[in-house]
Amino acid sequence: MFTRSGEWVIISGVKKYLHFKTLKSLRVHLVLIILLVGIIPTLIMQKVLIRNYESRAVEVRTAEVQNQCTILCNQIAEANFLKDPSGEVLQSELSQLANIYSGRIMVVNDEFAVVFDTYDLDRGRVIISESVSKASAGNSATFYDAETKYIEISSPIYDGNKNEVLGVMLTSVSTNAIAETMSILEGVTEVLIIIMTVAIALIAFLIGSKVVRPFRRITDSIEAVTEGFDDDYLHENAYEETEVLSVAFNKMLGRMKVLDDSRQEFVANVSHELKTPLTSMKVLADSLLAQEEVPPELYREFMQDLSEEIDRENIVINDLLTLVKLDKTNPHLTIEGQNINEMLERILKRLRPVAAERNIELVFESYGPVMAEVDEIKLVLAFSNLIENGIKYNHDNGWVKVTLDADHKWFTVIISDSGIGIPEEEGERIFERFYRVDKSRSGEISGTGLGLSIARSAVLLHRGAIKVQGNDDGGTDFNVRIPLTYIAI
Ligand code: ADP
Repeated sequence: MFTRSGEWVIISGVKKYLHFKTLKSLRVHLVLIILLVGIIPTLIMQKVLIRNYESRAVEVRTAEVQNQCTILCNQIAEANFLKDPSGEVLQSELSQLANIYSGRIMVVNDEFAVVFDTYDLDRGRVIISESVSKASAGNSATFYDAETKYIEISSPIYDGNKNEVLGVMLTSVSTNAIAETMSILEGVTEVLIIIMTVAIALIAFLIGSKVVRPFRRITDSIEAVTEGFDDDYLHENAYEETEVLSVAFNKMLGRMKVLDDSRQEFVANVSHELKTPLTSMKVLADSLLAQEEVPPELYREFMQDLSEEIDRENIVINDLLTLVKLDKTNPHLTIEGQNINEMLERILKRLRPVAAERNIELVFESYGPVMAEVDEIKLVLAFSNLIENGIKYNHDNGWVKVTLDADHKWFTVIISDSGIGIPEEEGERIFERFYRVDKSRSGEISGTGLGLSIARSAVLLHRGAIKVQGNDDGGTDFNVRIPLTYIAI
C-alpha cells in the first residue's frame, strides 16, 4: 500500500466513489433495465425456437423412417426374408435405407436372433432388449437419444394376415443433419443477438440521456441560482415530475427572495433607526463644541437631550434583541401552567399609573378563571405591548378594555381601546418590523415600530393568532387567540 504520501488511499477512494456514483446514476439504471428487458426475452426466444425446431425435425424424420420401415417390413414378410435372408434385392434395399440416413438396420427373427445387419457385425447374435420385446408384442417403438444424436425405431414384422409377429426390424438413424442445421441456426441467431444487443445498448444510452436531460437542466439552473448568476424561475415541463419539482423549487425561490428582501429591508430599517439618535447626538455635541463659553444651563439642557437620545437608542436596541430572540427558529420556551386572569391583572396594575397620567381608564373583564400552558415572560411582553399601545394611541380621558374568555381549546384576549384607530388599509402592515402608521401621526408619540412585531412573534410561538380591527368607538380591537395546551411540533 502506498500510504506514505497518501496518494494510493486517495486514488482508491476516488475510484470507489466513482464506482458507487456510477451505480447510483439514473442513466446507468435505465440503460441496464432496457438492456435486460430487450435481451433476456430474445435469449429465451432463441433457445425455445431451436428446441422447437429440434423436436419438430426429429418428429418428421421419425415418421419418414417409420413409413419406410413399415414398407420394408411388409416386403420382408412377403419374401420370407427371416427364414432366408439371402435375397439380394431386399438386402440392397435395407442397406440403401441405412445409407440414406447414415444409420444401421438389423432384422431379428422370432427367436430374437439377428438374421441381417447392415454393419455385418451382429449377425447370429441374440438381442433381448426392451424395444425388441415391445415390437415383438406388436407395438412399434421409437426413441430419440439427444446425446448421441440417434433415433431408434423398432417395427414389428407381421405375416401377410397381420395376425402374427414374425420378427422385428431395428433401425437406428443419425440426426447429425438436424444437429448441423441447429448449430447453423444457433450461429445465425447469436450474430443477430449481438447486433441487437449493440443496437439496444445504443438506443438505451440515447433514451437514458434523453430521460435524464431535464434533471441535468434543473441541476444546472439550481446551481446557477445558488452561485448567484441567475435568479430566474425554473420552467422544466418535460415530465409531470419535473414540472412538480420546478413548481416546488420556484416556490422555494420565491420564499427565499421574500426573505432576502425582508432581510435587506430590516437591515436598512435597523441602520436608519439606530442612526437617527446618533445623528441627533452628533448635531448636539457639534453645536456645543462650536460655541465658546457656553453657559452651564445650556450644557445641562444639551446633556438632557443627549441622554434622551441615548435612552431612545437603548430602547431600539432592547426591542431588537427581544425580536431576535423571539425570531429564532427554535426559541427556548419555558412552558408552565399559568393563571391568565392573574397575569393580565398584574400587567394592568403595572400600567395603571401610566394610564392615570392621561386619565385613561383600564378595565378588565373576565368570563371565568382561565389556566393555560404558556411561556409567561413572552406572553406578558405581548399583552403589555398591546395594552401599552392602547394607552399610547388613545385620547385623553379615554379607556382601554381587556376581555378574557375561553372555550375547551383556546383562550381569547380582546384588547379594545377608544383611541385614534388604525386606518383599514394599513391592515397587516402594522405587524411589520419598524412599521409605524403615518409617521407624522405617530411622530409625537414615541415608539420604535417593533412593539406589534414582538407581540405577534410571541403569539405565533404559542401557535396562536392575532387579528386587528376597528371598533364602533373609532378605536381599535386586537384579538389574540392562544391554545390552552401548548402544542409542541
Ligand atoms: P410603535 O408603537 O413603537 O410605533 P408598534 O409596532 O407597537 O410600534 O405599532 C406600530 C404602529 O401601529 C404604531 O406606530 C401605531 O401607528 C399603530 N398602532 C399600534 N397600536 C395601535 C392602537 N391601539 N391604536 C392605534 N394605532 C395603533
